[in-house]
Amino acid sequence: MDFCSKSARESDSPFNCVIFDLDDTLYSSKLGIGEALKKNIDDFLVEKCGFAENKASSLRVELFKTYGSTLAGLRALGYDIDADDYHSFVHGRLPYELIQPDSQLRNLLRTITQRKLIFTNSDRNHAIRALERLGLGDCFDQIICFETMNTNLSKSTRPDEFPVLLKPSMDAMRIAIRVAAVDPHRTLFLDDNVCNVAAGKALGLRTVLVI
Ligand SMILES: [Mg+2]
Repeated sequence: MDFCSKSARESDSPFNCVIFDLDDTLYSSKLGIGEALKKNIDDFLVEKCGFAENKASSLRVELFKTYGSTLAGLRALGYDIDADDYHSFVHGRLPYELIQPDSQLRNLLRTITQRKLIFTNSDRNHAIRALERLGLGDCFDQIICFETMNTNLSKSTRPDEFPVLLKPSMDAMRIAIRVAAVDPHRTLFLDDNVCNVAAGKALGLRTVLVI
């Protein structure tokens, strides 16, 4: 229970909202989740798209560099990949047991009286599952995720009709700021990706690069 009045909070801090990235920010990149994700994406490229096994990793890297994600790249190239199917394949089979409850982080978050939001490129199911594993399921006021930024995809008549929007694109950042209804100058944004941090800074957010 938060006993701190809104006016007291706002007078004590230059910030009235803190936005957190999720993956590799709220849990360590060393857990092996990222590596497992890469393997699942490679498997998706082979099993669902028919690419050669020895080409999958380099294609994944190329699509990420050019389009921001494998899904974004596949759709831009005309592959009719349903985002939910993709996410259930690449995230649904992650070894979530590697993510352990983080009581220290939970206690820290509970001392932050400002609004706390998650802003992740991952899909909502993954965000909820990872937060639950961390024991942080009830620590955030809002989750801004893949689905928030990509409401148009389900209306598309062809795969490349709408680009997949993800951090660090300015369009994605603007959607997040609008949906979160925050004043960027009074919002602290924490992310482990330097490009995401730079994009947030360009839009007026106060930023922290998490390392
Ligand atoms: Mg991250």
